[in-house]
Amino acid sequence: MERKRCVKCGLCREACPIFRVIRSETLSPRGKAVISERKGPPEVGYRCTLCKACREACPLGLDLPMEEMRLRAAQEGRSPSSVREMMENVWRYGNPFGDLKEEKVPSKLYCC
Ligand code: SF4
Ligand code: SF4
Repeated sequence: MERKRCVKCGLCREACPIFRVIRSETLSPRGKAVISERKGPPEVGYRCTLCKACREACPLGLDLPMEEMRLRAAQEGRSPSSVREMMENVWRYGNPFGDLKEEKVPSKLYCC
């Protein structure tokens, strides 16, 4: 798999908006690459905006498998509750916010 080529140089870290705020190696692109490689908790895949800034910064152009991790989390029933709620709303109401009346502002915004 492509992520096994990661040389752990860390050049992707400062490009990552999640790492720049949280400053946790676990949630840096490099940390996620290691977690993914070791088949660690797939929920980590949700701590990512899918912006691909890490791929742009990476000298090897590695593209982290965040979508794959999310798929695995969903298949294992480990998606965050907010994501499950949002999907339920889409299935039931055709939108992520739930039973929305005309001109009503959603009371809850979902973010994965
Ligand atoms: S794609 Fe995810 S891991 Fe990569 S820089 Fe964006 S938020 Fe960070
Ligand atoms: S920049 Fe690329 S090679 Fe370096 S740690 Fe990040 S993903 Fe790995």
